[in-house]
Amino acid sequence: MEQIELSSATLSSAREFISRIEAQSESNIKACYQCGKCSAGCPVAFAMDYSPRQIIRLLQLGLKDEALKAHSIWICAQCATCSTRCPRGVEPARLMEAMRIEARKSGITPEKNIKIFDDAFLDSVEKNGRVHEFGLILNFNLKTGQPFKDAGMGPAMMKRGKVSLFPHKIKGQTAIKRIFDRVRAQGGDQH
Ligand code: SF4
Ligand code: SF4
Repeated sequence: MEQIELSSATLSSAREFISRIEAQSESNIKACYQCGKCSAGCPVAFAMDYSPRQIIRLLQLGLKDEALKAHSIWICAQCATCSTRCPRGVEPARLMEAMRIEARKSGITPEKNIKIFDDAFLDSVEKNGRVHEFGLILNFNLKTGQPFKDAGMGPAMMKRGKVSLFPHKIKGQTAIKRIFDRVRAQGGDQH
C-alpha cells in the first residue's frame, strides 16, 4: 500500500473542508471508531479502492485530496446499508454523497463514465420531467465513444414496451425546470 505523509499542517489545511462535509452529511467524522461494520455490509466494497471505513479514516487524518480522488465515492450505490449499521450514528452514505459534490466542484472525477451517466440522466429528467431511457442510453453511448453498445437488445426491449423511441413528458415540467434552476442558483452543481 502507498505510504502517506502526515503532519499537523495536513490536518489544519483540511479542517474547513472536513467541517463542510460534516455539515452537509450531518455526520460527526470524529465519532467513527473504525469498527468496520459499514464496510462489512457494503455491497460494492469489493469494487472500491478504499472501503467506506477507510474513506472516513482518510478524512479523520485530514487527507482530503486522497479521499476526493477515490473511486469509491463514485462507486457507492447510495443504498444506505452502511449508515443503518453504524453503531456511532455516522452516515457514511451521506458522506459519500457530500464527497461526490465536493469532487465535482473541484473538477475531480476519476470515474468519468459515471459522471457522464449522471449528467445524461439529469439532462433527460430536466428536459422531459422524467427519464427517457432510450435517449439516456444513446446519449451515454455517444459520449463514451461506444455508439452501438447493447444495441442488439434494443428491438426486444422496444417490442416489450420497456423502452420507447420518443420521450413521455410529464405535466409538471415547469416545476421540474424550477427545481433545477434553484439547485444551480444555490451552487448545487455545474450541471
Ligand atoms: S460503522 Fe460507523 S463507527 Fe464503524 S467504521 Fe463505519 S462509520 Fe465508523
Ligand atoms: S451507501 Fe454506499 S458506501 Fe454505504 S453501503 Fe451502500 S454502497 Fe456502500
